[in-house]
Amino acid sequence: MTDIEKCKELLLKVAEIGKQSRQVPPIYEVEPFQYFFSQGLIKYNELDKRDGGCTRREIITRYLLVNAVLDQGPHIPGVRKLLKEVTTDLYRKERRIFHRPLDFFSEMGISIDSILEQHKSVKAIFAENWSKNKKSSAASYNLFFTQSSRGIISTNQVLDYSVHRWGTPLCVPLLLEKDNQKNGKESGQPLIDYLESYSSAETMVQGIKNNNRYGLGSAIGDKAAHLFAKWYVTFFNLSTRKKSDTGWTDISYEVPFDGNVGRVLFRTGFFSEFASLEEYKKWKVIQLNSGKYGKHHIRVTNIRKKKVVDVENNSSLFRDYSDLLVNYLKMGSRPRGMEIQRMPGLILFQLFQQGYKYSIADLDDGLMHIGTTFCHNDKELPNCKECPVNKFCVGYKKKPKLISDYRT
Ligand code: SF4
Repeated sequence: MTDIEKCKELLLKVAEIGKQSRQVPPIYEVEPFQYFFSQGLIKYNELDKRDGGCTRREIITRYLLVNAVLDQGPHIPGVRKLLKEVTTDLYRKERRIFHRPLDFFSEMGISIDSILEQHKSVKAIFAENWSKNKKSSAASYNLFFTQSSRGIISTNQVLDYSVHRWGTPLCVPLLLEKDNQKNGKESGQPLIDYLESYSSAETMVQGIKNNNRYGLGSAIGDKAAHLFAKWYVTFFNLSTRKKSDTGWTDISYEVPFDGNVGRVLFRTGFFSEFASLEEYKKWKVIQLNSGKYGKHHIRVTNIRKKKVVDVENNSSLFRDYSDLLVNYLKMGSRPRGMEIQRMPGLILFQLFQQGYKYSIADLDDGLMHIGTTFCHNDKELPNCKECPVNKFCVGYKKKPKLISDYRT
């Protein structure tokens, strides 16, 4: 029998932690955009002012889209500094890449040189400390990345990195502008018009990756596409539909699962509230003896589409699930079962209705913070003693094997 109250206690604490550990991209520090902000906050009453051909809202959104793609690389503080410094450098050279994305490509040599040069400066700032934490050499600090069968890996090919990771998201507003011209339309915010043509923040996330014409495809993963939604809807409050449309609230997108999130939800016992260990093995979410250090592997992405076992279709939990799916995520009309992937969002939705105003962003940030700071994936055991959710954690309190025998 699922203990929803226990899940609520855990996620409430996680969301509270997440709210305190937000890491917002410092756009207010980017020289060409500084006047969009006052004391670090967006000047909302000027957000729809034109800045050249585009509104400020559009420029910030374009920047965030590139930032979300680049954030998939190693060492987030370095990645964000690189984006900030390259943007400043290119604008000083009159290459206004977020106002005129074509500027990035028309003088490709300038763009590539800027990325290489600023990468050198960022490396000089961060490499030494980074190498100590990673037990690696400072020389191997490299923010350029590419996709391989093993996931995201470092690359030395700056052209691939620049065109694929910077160029693809810059091409989205460029193509939208061209399509507007072709259709005789004029807009100072083609990217926003496009993003908000989706019925909800979650359907926008799917479209950012999968749309046949404008989708970023392999340039962006599920986690990064959700990261963009977090920033766009919640942190920067840029959605024009947020006040009037349940599809665009702070709970209208899902918590994306990755290794950190999966590890915390597994070890705390959250997952076992919705299916048994045997089911997870059958679904290959748990793969025996095939993980790091000879442990069992938690392959959290295999949870996608898996349904909660033993749920009654007339229970209040199921009714709330339907409400969330139909009216907030806008992902269907009549669900036949409840997907485990959506359970963290559902619990938060119930808490929201009880008056706890936490967002999916808070929950995701909390899980990430716990996963990276305490509940690590090393050979040694995680730092449970200092973990702020230890009193809610089944692994810590009752079933130590959930911790010692599994890695992501
Ligand atoms: S108590 Fe330990 S196992 Fe549980 S979430 Fe915290 S670090 Fe992870």
